[in-house]
Amino acid sequence: MSKKITRREAIKDMFFVGVGLASAGTLMQACASRGGSKAAAGVSFTPMPDAPEGSKVDTRRWDSLGCELSLLGLGCMRLPSIPNANGRGSHLDQEAVNAMIDYAIAHGVNYFDTAPAYGESEVVTGNALSRHPRESYMIATKMSNFAFGPGNSPTLDGAKEMFERSLKNLQVDYVDFLLCHAVSSYSELESRFLNNGVLDYLKEQKAAGRIKHLGFSFHGNNAALPKILDASEWDFVQIQLNYVDWKEIDGDSGPTESEKAASETLYNTLVERGIPVLVMEPVKGGALANVSDALKARMAERHPGLSPAGNALTFVGSLPGVMVTLSGMSNMDQLKENVALFTDFKPFDQTEMDYMQTIADLYKSNVHVPCTACSYCMPCPNGVDIPGNFKVFNTASDELRIPDPTHPGKEFKQNRKVFLKAFKDLGAGSADACIDCNACLPKCPQHIRIPDQLHMISDLVAKVR
Ligand code: SF4
Ligand code: SF4
Repeated sequence: MSKKITRREAIKDMFFVGVGLASAGTLMQACASRGGSKAAAGVSFTPMPDAPEGSKVDTRRWDSLGCELSLLGLGCMRLPSIPNANGRGSHLDQEAVNAMIDYAIAHGVNYFDTAPAYGESEVVTGNALSRHPRESYMIATKMSNFAFGPGNSPTLDGAKEMFERSLKNLQVDYVDFLLCHAVSSYSELESRFLNNGVLDYLKEQKAAGRIKHLGFSFHGNNAALPKILDASEWDFVQIQLNYVDWKEIDGDSGPTESEKAASETLYNTLVERGIPVLVMEPVKGGALANVSDALKARMAERHPGLSPAGNALTFVGSLPGVMVTLSGMSNMDQLKENVALFTDFKPFDQTEMDYMQTIADLYKSNVHVPCTACSYCMPCPNGVDIPGNFKVFNTASDELRIPDPTHPGKEFKQNRKVFLKAFKDLGAGSADACIDCNACLPKCPQHIRIPDQLHMISDLVAKVR
């Protein structure tokens, strides 16, 4: 049976096997000519009108948890920030966060997700939420014991300290949802939560009423999930779920053949066991909000008025087993758009869900490193700006602007100029500073083979320089 060669595979070949740029260039042009960026340039979506004052987002009742939760949750990992007074770095903008949380609560959002691993997020979120009655919101935080505690090892004492600090930061005497943070395999559960007594400690806290519901966030493959589920009783589980990864999480940069993961399989595993599904990364770290014009045009044909992010969120919210769709929001505009979408929410029917798989296939035909910009891999000891490099590459790819030296015309010159400038702007953090130390590899929840991908990018830069 002949195998269809995707543009991704062609590009992969040209860098790893040395086939040259011709095949990729041809495919890129084919992609553009079947309605790519030029044909669809200028696709725009009319922003949804703000949700009326006094309206509330849709909620779902979860009898197993004894509570009603808003279908939209506010993820507090990418809160708005402002530059520091000394001009170096930035800090979270408490006033902007207060305004967002006030708006969210006024519109019925009652689920707020943070973590010790999100820098100042717990403190700033706690400051904002503590201005509201405790019963008006549910707070979720995590046991982020992957890089904390004495000697950076996940000790019981380190976990106790982390949990007490979370309560203090959040200004509460209990948390509604506590997640064992980013558990990818049974062996990781063992080393971080079972063998050291941390899970028993968390269960004690739950029995004492200081944790209402106990679950975990999962970044592993299809085979790992049941093993972790069998290890304990879990009230809920948080998984990555989006329409692009529904059938299979990308195998080029993601798990190897024997380590497949797919949102659909993970979701069904949980639903079959009656476990509420909490969804993270419904917009794939923002990547599905910034798709190519070609994809926007296909979405606009079918769902006029629904932005690319709106399509992604509607796909997730349409699944009945989803407890909360967490969206990491960075400004009031995003929050208002999401609130409007989930107010009098209109789920996709099966035909629309299937159509989103057609969109997913098109999306996957673009070369893309599936980086969500979470920065868990940072800092790189050699100063590489890992998510920054992937963003530059993905942007060029999505816009069909990867320079192709086998077609050295005007378009190549323009693309080359923009591409090289973007990498120059990364300075010492550009991909060619990677020395293959592999320190970043185990930290990436997307299982991206980071050094390989960085070399793919630096090879491309060298070829067109
Ligand atoms: S492998 Fe490269 S990017 Fe990763 S930590 Fe080492 S130098 Fe940095
Ligand atoms: S490479 Fe992985 S860990 Fe690093 S920012 Fe991207 S998704 Fe996060």
